[in-house]
Amino acid sequence: MPVTTPLAPAAVPPPDTTLPQDFRALLRQDPEIGGILLAEAGRQASTLQLIAAENFTSPAVLAALGSPLANKYAEGYPGARHHGGCEQADAAEGLAVRRATALFGAEHANVQPHSGSSAVLAAYAALLRPGDTVLAMGLPYGGHLTHGAPGNFSGRWFEFVGYGVDPDSGLIDYAQVRALARARRPKAIVCGSISYPRHPDYELFRDIADEAGAYLIADAAHPMGLIAGGAAPSPVPYADVVCATTHKVLRGPRGGMILCGVELAERIDRAVFPFTQGGAQMHTVAAKAVAFGEAATPAYAVYAHRVVAHARALAAALEAEGFEVTTGGTDTHLVVADPAPLGVDGRTARERLCAAGMVLDTCALPYGDARGIRLGTAAVTTQGMDEDDMARIAGLFGAAVREEGDTGRLRADVRALAERNPPYPG
Ligand SMILES: *Cc1c(COP(=O)(O)O)cnc(C)c1O
Repeated sequence: MPVTTPLAPAAVPPPDTTLPQDFRALLRQDPEIGGILLAEAGRQASTLQLIAAENFTSPAVLAALGSPLANKYAEGYPGARHHGGCEQADAAEGLAVRRATALFGAEHANVQPHSGSSAVLAAYAALLRPGDTVLAMGLPYGGHLTHGAPGNFSGRWFEFVGYGVDPDSGLIDYAQVRALARARRPKAIVCGSISYPRHPDYELFRDIADEAGAYLIADAAHPMGLIAGGAAPSPVPYADVVCATTHKVLRGPRGGMILCGVELAERIDRAVFPFTQGGAQMHTVAAKAVAFGEAATPAYAVYAHRVVAHARALAAALEAEGFEVTTGGTDTHLVVADPAPLGVDGRTARERLCAAGMVLDTCALPYGDARGIRLGTAAVTTQGMDEDDMARIAGLFGAAVREEGDTGRLRADVRALAERNPPYPG
């Protein structure tokens, strides 16, 4: 659902020095779309981006996305393309694949999926047939659309069985996962979620999958950046296939990727192209290579650990403000909080927070039907915020959700905090 903030973004463009030359040229040539892009840059710089799936990519990633590789058709794989002139496309994809396999310690990487959902689609296409049973986290507990939602291909073409979490602890109920695996004999088990703030026990999932004779698919879109930075355990040694996005914490371009062992490599590649996609988006593939290069640096490892420390600090500060934090905290970039003790549900809380310039999502809570709020610290950490800022954000949350004080003042405070930490400083 789109969220509008009452801030007039067009009125607050970032300083001109932050705009690349070609952006300025676009503004002159097409003021209509140029104005929209400028307003979006202003919105991102003057509000707090707490959507757990968002981040600020580097100028180098943006440069690759805006490069002439965007013009290139390159169906197929390096050395085996259906088009001529693919020398540089091959080189870019080869580099992206080598960097991805080195970064994650995987035997094989496919960097072509257009999105996280496309990566999951290809993984299912490689391993399953329509009608097969798949065991995944139930949607009410944080399963993704591609884990069996009725409106998604997954829910239409496969027989999904959902596991849940313990309503008291909020932790995955592994006894239930094992019991369902024994009873339903799924062809694949999926671990991964959009709102689970703890690490899945990949080794235990592997054991349960082995007992059931099922493939294990890790859908690690959210934690993939933490895994790259050594701030979360890796599913690569345990899962048959790992699907992920290259955006989110990983801080690359919007897109997907798949990791697997050599024995599944050919099936995965054929499931991406030609089964589910045509030509790869080569500018995005180049930008993925840039992001993998960045994620391999010591600075990125520091970043990934900071993201988790900030989420922990924010979770503790939100509890002090009266929010109920699911699982009592977090091991990741994600915090899920129930604002009920403050007298509102997740939807109202999100509206009030977004109105104050703190942009986030609602999400399912592990108990009951009420919704909570879901936030992440990837973007604010990229901006350079610290643990004191997390305490400030929690205080602003409390004031906004309780509707305390002057709303104009609150918005100004949020904006000042955002603008002290520009995502793209000149
Ligand atoms: C984000 C996400 C996806 C999908 O990514 P898109 O790029 O939005 O298609 C799939 N699975 C999980 C668990 C995710 O968090």
